[in-house]
Amino acid sequence: MPSENLPFRMKITLPGAHRPIPVGKLLCIGRNYAKHAEEMGSDVPDVPMVFLKPASAIIRSGETVVLPPQSQNVHHEVEMVAVIGKEGKNIDPGAALEYVAAYAVGLDMTARDLQSAAKERRHPWSVAKGFDTFAPLGPLTPADQVGDPQNLEIRLRVNGEERQRASTDHMIFSVADLVAYCSRIFTLAPGDLLYTGTPDGVGPVEGGDVLDATLTGCAPLHVRVERAA
Ligand code: MN
Repeated sequence: MPSENLPFRMKITLPGAHRPIPVGKLLCIGRNYAKHAEEMGSDVPDVPMVFLKPASAIIRSGETVVLPPQSQNVHHEVEMVAVIGKEGKNIDPGAALEYVAAYAVGLDMTARDLQSAAKERRHPWSVAKGFDTFAPLGPLTPADQVGDPQNLEIRLRVNGEERQRASTDHMIFSVADLVAYCSRIFTLAPGDLLYTGTPDGVGPVEGGDVLDATLTGCAPLHVRVERAA
């Protein structure tokens, strides 16, 4: 089985499961908080804005974000992550939360300079969003222990100083709406991750920084930042 050879960081163990499974798709949502859209000078979307990150970008709590030589301006984006636990296609919004096995806090690290250049050229964001270590993922907490996903506080501190803080009730599209929407495009499968968008307060990180992210009811995420040698 090729999956046996994946780095351990690219596997997750779903609640109640005995064995880790490979991380699948990373479905990421842009502009899902109005104040973040505003700080980026962007309009609020009328349908979810979806992009993908590769599973090779995953790191886990305690590991290190590596700033690539191609970028001089890498930003933090703290996000609630919904972890898909069963296969589904064309999921009804009313049943969508049944497909979420766990939640975690994550970071959608973004090379903002490369993203700006891509926007100008109307190129995709894959490079700006997809570097190795650009998708830190906190420990998974079973969904039934988290409660209402639209009533959680999400928070990021950089070197102990608060940079981002919001309630998930400010999300434009709810987790249920996003799962249903994405499932009309992509067959969802266990091990897929949905990064649900960042609130306002994004900003640059530097080598030596320490990032601490929290989400109500979930175990925290702690990563260091280093510039590539
Ligand atoms: Mn994001």
